[in-house]
Amino acid sequence: MKKTLSILLCILLAAAGVLPAAAADTTCDCGKAPIIHVCGIGNTVYDGDNTVFPPQGGTIAKTVFTALPLLPALLRGSLNIRQQERALRAAAGIFAPIAFDKNGDPATSAAARFSYPESVAHGDGCNPIDFDYDWRLDPFVVAEQLHDFIRYVEDKTGHDGVYLVGESMGAMILTTYLSVYGTADVKGAVWMNGAYKGVASCSESYSNQNTFSAESFYAYLIQQTGVFGNSPQLCDLFTGLYASGLLESVLVPVEKTARQLADDGALTRFMQQHLGRIPGFWGLVSAEDYPAARNFVFPTAESQTEYAVLLTRLDRFYNEVSSRVDEIMTAAKEVTGKIGVLCGYGEVIVPVTKDNARQSDSVILTEDESNGATCAPLGQTLGEDYVQAVDDRHNHISADRVIDASTALFPDNTWFTKYAHHRVNYGLYSLKLVQNIFYTDGFDVFSDSAFPQFMVYDTETNTVSALTSDNGGQKTVEPGFAAKLYTALFRVIRVFTDLIK
Ligand SMILES: [Zn+2]
Ligand SMILES: [Zn+2]
Repeated sequence: MKKTLSILLCILLAAAGVLPAAAADTTCDCGKAPIIHVCGIGNTVYDGDNTVFPPQGGTIAKTVFTALPLLPALLRGSLNIRQQERALRAAAGIFAPIAFDKNGDPATSAAARFSYPESVAHGDGCNPIDFDYDWRLDPFVVAEQLHDFIRYVEDKTGHDGVYLVGESMGAMILTTYLSVYGTADVKGAVWMNGAYKGVASCSESYSNQNTFSAESFYAYLIQQTGVFGNSPQLCDLFTGLYASGLLESVLVPVEKTARQLADDGALTRFMQQHLGRIPGFWGLVSAEDYPAARNFVFPTAESQTEYAVLLTRLDRFYNEVSSRVDEIMTAAKEVTGKIGVLCGYGEVIVPVTKDNARQSDSVILTEDESNGATCAPLGQTLGEDYVQAVDDRHNHISADRVIDASTALFPDNTWFTKYAHHRVNYGLYSLKLVQNIFYTDGFDVFSDSAFPQFMVYDTETNTVSALTSDNGGQKTVEPGFAAKLYTALFRVIRVFTDLIK
């Protein structure tokens, strides 16, 4: 009996020793480590069950109601002190629910929601695993969350290391992650439509360099009708707004007002209380614009003392990430050998920047997204006589002679898609391309004729094909008869707005 018991005990002890080992023994030998997609900005911020950002109907209505009495003064382009306060109160209504404190941490219980997936599929044909986050937070905080997420995915899949795709703001998070954690858990990285060299609209807002023009507003609005369903009605309406001069008649005083708010220090006060406290947005300010932005939002010694903790964080991002992007990317390339940069061009950028004549994917400048490609101005080419800037024995000039990729950080690893709008690039084409970059050794722009350096996106068929000198031509709009009616109507309205002035 004693013997039986001791044998039983031995079996139990052995089992106890073996079982945990078996539980940990879930390594996967498929050879295709999981791909994590670091999402872009955009997830909803909730307070309890209420959506607080993007602002909802009630908040928008309240803002409009507060701002409406300012309309005549806005059209004149000059606000007195009381009106300035009212304008800032209207804007504050939108940002108050997602307020941050002076140190750059959330000041309310509002937060973006995200969760770890229960099951994670990986390998060929699988969609990358989304990593989402609260875009307002300090990029270093998000990088730490990404690190935890990577460990979770490694555990779930049994892989030692992952591939990372940073899309839009996610590319900035990816760069921040690499600056802190290096490539110990990273087998390769792709910067896709990436906001890692700053976003002009954000950089220029924070450093007070915005400009508006009726031409660029019009060009942008027309482009958006094509992206969102090609609406001839909207196209005619916008043409009427522009051709009647109403758009310009409204925009000129709005710009004048913005300039006045900046000159009077009201914009600085607003930034200090709201947007300037959100470290996530500071992550979209380029290294080039950071000193000017820091100086615009925190101009005095008092404000720099008051916001010292926040400024330490922002300076850290500048010193360790934004001013070191090339170094961080080059190190990742050297260690992993699997790198890709995906970007778009041929689109008009959001019309609040001085860069409205430059190539973009509608949100980010192509030069920034590609990390240094040479781009002709929108609607132009580099010219027939243009010679490739860097001779690396490859051709890096696009068939439409708009882009010279030889000056990019990685000329052989940077892919361009013409007319790839910022939000629509992540289709099947980019999924396949990303998988090729990660799962094929040494994959570059010359590896596969289906994935050449330059592609063109067709909105109507939702397909991407190789760019040739015949496709990807200039997009033109033919306004219909209704445009003439709108123009006449808006001329009348313009007379009234001019009277109000
Ligand atoms: Zn596997
Ligand atoms: Zn080359």
